[in-house]
Amino acid sequence: MNQAQINVSGLRITGCTRLVGVLGLPVEHSLSPIMHNAAFAALGLDWVYVPLPVYPDHLGEAVRGLRAMGFAGANVTVPHKQAVLRYLDDVSEDALVIGAVNTIVVRNDDLYGDNTDASGFIAALVEAGFDPRGIYAAVLGAGGAARAVVHALANAGARQVCVYNRHVQRAHELCRDMARFHLDVRFEALPLDAVREIDEDFSLLVNATSLGMWPETEASPWPVDLPIPAHLTVCDLVYRPLETMFLTQARAAGAEIVSGLGMLIYQGAGAFEMWTGHPAPVHVMRQACQEFLVMESRAEAGVTEQQVAG
Ligand code: NAP
Repeated sequence: MNQAQINVSGLRITGCTRLVGVLGLPVEHSLSPIMHNAAFAALGLDWVYVPLPVYPDHLGEAVRGLRAMGFAGANVTVPHKQAVLRYLDDVSEDALVIGAVNTIVVRNDDLYGDNTDASGFIAALVEAGFDPRGIYAAVLGAGGAARAVVHALANAGARQVCVYNRHVQRAHELCRDMARFHLDVRFEALPLDAVREIDEDFSLLVNATSLGMWPETEASPWPVDLPIPAHLTVCDLVYRPLETMFLTQARAAGAEIVSGLGMLIYQGAGAFEMWTGHPAPVHVMRQACQEFLVMESRAEAGVTEQQVAG
């Protein structure tokens, strides 16, 4: 099962249906249509969320098209999160610091950009019972998602954030950018292999690389020959599969684990509330995503529904 799909009962299209969607390439694997359409149906809202595959050369036209065609807004995903900034009329402070937008809202004919990845990440951590104040955190990766995570941790009171990346220059750029906005936080950039030296001062380890993401599920950013320190809380932004190789390593070592599903739900909830003005039905959104991910992992394992029922 490589295309995300689920049947949402109660979804209907009328002459007044409000439109939102996700701009990206590829978008067929995105769980956002499943999550948001389930939420619209649960609240009885006449809204629909559609995938919008957009090539980089057409990004400007596509973003202007949102306004021209009466969309209420959109999500933005890989590879457009940074490039989209130049087509917007205004952006939030979070989006400016992170340098990326994942949510567009069409407001009084203006295109407004925000980034709900940062607040979504912190909401998921807090839900898991983790307090980021005063901590030392290790973030693996220096792409768009890592930028949101580092900014979120700094905002939430982390004392030190070390960024480990394959191309270390990118980690240096991330740290330099964040240091301009977060004067009281220490940032350090290191190559990815240096994760071997993480010591007991650290309490949080986050995978913000794309390693382990379906279909390359055997990959992990952590060395295979080294146990993950058991005192760490270990968080993976990758949510497909729900338990990645990295989280399996962490669980085996006895560490606390936090999957990427919580961040997916809460970044979606933030966007949903900005577009509709309604509180997001978080439990419905989580259930819709979980159902799909469990079905997918059973299909991957070759388990039939009959076997499950039996
Ligand atoms: P991105 O901007 O493309 O960055 C990818 C990161 O992964 C870079 O740091 C890159 O390192 C690293 N990487 C890729 N292949 C690697 C390899 N073979 N070895 C070592 N490092 C490698 O992507 P992104 O937007 O930051 O997203 C990263 C992940 O977070 C994705 O899996 C995405 O699905 C997930 N995500 C989840 C949520 C959520 O709600 N749970 C939200 C946002 C993103 P280099 O810089 O060295 O290339």
